[in-house]
Amino acid sequence: MKENIIPHSYKISKEARNEKNKHNSFLIWFTGLSGSGKSTIANALESKLFDHNIKTYTLDGDNIRNGINNDLSFSPEDRTENIRRIAEVANLLVDAGIVTLAAFVSPYRKDREGIKEIVGAANFIEIFINTSIEECEKRDVKGLYKKARSGELKNFTGIDAPYEAPLHPEIEIKTEQFTVEESVTKIMEVINEKLSYE
Ligand code: ADP
Repeated sequence: MKENIIPHSYKISKEARNEKNKHNSFLIWFTGLSGSGKSTIANALESKLFDHNIKTYTLDGDNIRNGINNDLSFSPEDRTENIRRIAEVANLLVDAGIVTLAAFVSPYRKDREGIKEIVGAANFIEIFINTSIEECEKRDVKGLYKKARSGELKNFTGIDAPYEAPLHPEIEIKTEQFTVEESVTKIMEVINEKLSYE
């Protein structure tokens, strides 16, 4: 099948889009436990980028698990497939010139390595939202830790499913030490240079 798929050469390249938009496009991937603060920080970062006229889009559980991935469970195989499809969608968005933010637990190191392969290392920034399980459980934003502790919810990351913390994330945010605003400032400092299109 694959050998009969011959890509058409389109005139408008990623570079042309980046030049027109006056900024580069790449993927900013947030990983961390449920309730660690991925969506909160991604949301605040996107607002900041939006204010700077950067073209952005955020992928998260709400717009992915309810749509393109609504056939997937939380088994290890389906989690891997979940991340692979998200990475492919992100790859299209980045190619379309959009700074793409993605907030997913993404607990397996090998899956996150896979994202890097799909979008290319130069287009990938990994942000580890490092919040202790105790704090996440205390926050219990969605009441899921309570359900996981009672056994009502199985395969919950940090309780009865593993979380493999990044070894060399581009950025690490400890939300027990920094506010959301401070975290956004720290991320902006790192991505500012990468954003500028020369
Ligand atoms: P996730 O997307 O990782 O599951 P959420 O962003 O949905 O997590 O929830 C994180 C919760 O933690 C929010 O209610 C947020 O207000 C709270 N929170 C408290 N302090 C911080 C902080 N410094 N950074 C991010 N979130 C924080």
